Amino acid sequence: MPPRKPKVNQSVGISAPHSGLLCGVLRGFCNQPWVRLSPNTPFHRLLGLVRSAMSLILYNTLTRRKEAFQPADPARVTMYVCGPTVYSYAHIGNARSAVAFDVLHRLLKHTYGNVAYARNITDVDDKINAAAKAQNVPITAITDKFAQIYRDDMAGLGVLPPTAEPYATAHMGEIISMIGRLITSGHAYAAEGHVLFHVPAFADYGKLSGRNMDDMIAGARVEVAPYKKDAADFVLWKPSTDDLPGWESPWGRGRPGWHIECSAMIAKEFGPTIDIHGGGNDLVFPHHENEVAQSVCAHGGAPLARFWLHNGFLTMDKEKMSKSLGNVLLAHDILKTTPGEAVRWALISGHYRQPMDWSDDLLAQSKKTLDRLYLALDQVKHIEAVKADVPAPVLAALNDDLNTPIALAEIANLLHKLNTAATDAEKAQAKGELLATGALLGVLQQDPAAWLKGGGLKGDAASSSVDAAHVEDLIAQRNAARKAKNFKEADRLRDAIAALGVVIEDRADGTHWRMAG
Ligand SMILES: [Zn+2]
Repeated sequence: MPPRKPKVNQSVGISAPHSGLLCGVLRGFCNQPWVRLSPNTPFHRLLGLVRSAMSLILYNTLTRRKEAFQPADPARVTMYVCGPTVYSYAHIGNARSAVAFDVLHRLLKHTYGNVAYARNITDVDDKINAAAKAQNVPITAITDKFAQIYRDDMAGLGVLPPTAEPYATAHMGEIISMIGRLITSGHAYAAEGHVLFHVPAFADYGKLSGRNMDDMIAGARVEVAPYKKDAADFVLWKPSTDDLPGWESPWGRGRPGWHIECSAMIAKEFGPTIDIHGGGNDLVFPHHENEVAQSVCAHGGAPLARFWLHNGFLTMDKEKMSKSLGNVLLAHDILKTTPGEAVRWALISGHYRQPMDWSDDLLAQSKKTLDRLYLALDQVKHIEAVKADVPAPVLAALNDDLNTPIALAEIANLLHKLNTAATDAEKAQAKGELLATGALLGVLQQDPAAWLKGGGLKGDAASSSVDAAHVEDLIAQRNAARKAKNFKEADRLRDAIAALGVVIEDRADGTHWRMAG
């Protein structure tokens, strides 16, 4: 018997957008300390390692191109995203950022297992001070309340909690010591109770945002504080009057500037360099540019983050959201009337880097799509799902710079697969794939029957949408009327049920009901 030919035409599962990066990735890959290759490394092991190493491609704001992502330590991926300043409710644009980075968090967890993800709470800020003063309460009364509301609202959108949630006020020691280091190294100076970062002392300033010094000076406010050596210099520490929150420091009683808080918290949480730093694209300049300047100069030139990711902005019916236009939509309010998954679906229906236009139509469409999915899942509730992997096309879409629109289109394909499955075994497989995909994207996490009955709303909102006991009572009366062949009464009851916005369906195992989509 001739020896079997080794399989050489095995697919490596590299999709087209990835193939151009192959050479560079392979070159860098073999130098990784965690890749212990020997001449005897089996081909399939090599293939698996290559595949995992080149699985995720992310657009890096720093280099302005898509790059193959490899964490410095695959046993612990590190990510930091700028979190909320807790003096008010988060608007839907803030929610977009939290959801976009939650998709990345979930994908990284799926790929690497261990992700250290910090999202900070800015709990000292002039807006917080103003709110506390207006209400005559300590700042913690404002910050504790809105930090909890933020957590609850984000949970309502299916955002997983980060692994760390550092508070700025809990890091005053780190902030003060980092400022001290920047003064010692000649990158910062104290003046009139303030400490300022001296921008000309950092040659790479402007690299992240792609701005040059002339643009920045031209863009700077005409009135420059007299204590600044350079118009572009920014505040690391500022003095507090007695009526404002303040901390003792070598430069007097004061409080930190916003930018230094993130730099200090990242260093405390992770050390000088992290894998991924994220935020909304309105933070690229000046916030993130200033974070880079502070951290790089305080850490002897070590980069702050290897990958910088920024999500696009959100408009409301093609207009910028602003208080003056009165079109600021709060996540907290929208969750009172719309299921969180529908809001999440709408938010990830566009690519995270593209601008997104929010509208009632977008939300209604998203809700309808989920209704269809839950209806299909409800119809196979008696079939136990196979424990399936996330299908390759879904992973390929997400690995290509988090292409959620394509991933959602793949969900539509999986729905079709489920609806057209001929046997219970096929249905179990399709259901398993659908649920695995839903889990990765943070959707389809509700009980289908509950979703269909309460529209996916939770708590008070769900109970106010329809009285389930009342509906079930009407259904029982209708079925009794049908049994007694009193069809006139049965029809009247059917109409009464429909008037509640409830759709009923008579199946072999009884009458099922759901809210009309
Ligand atoms: Zn920040």
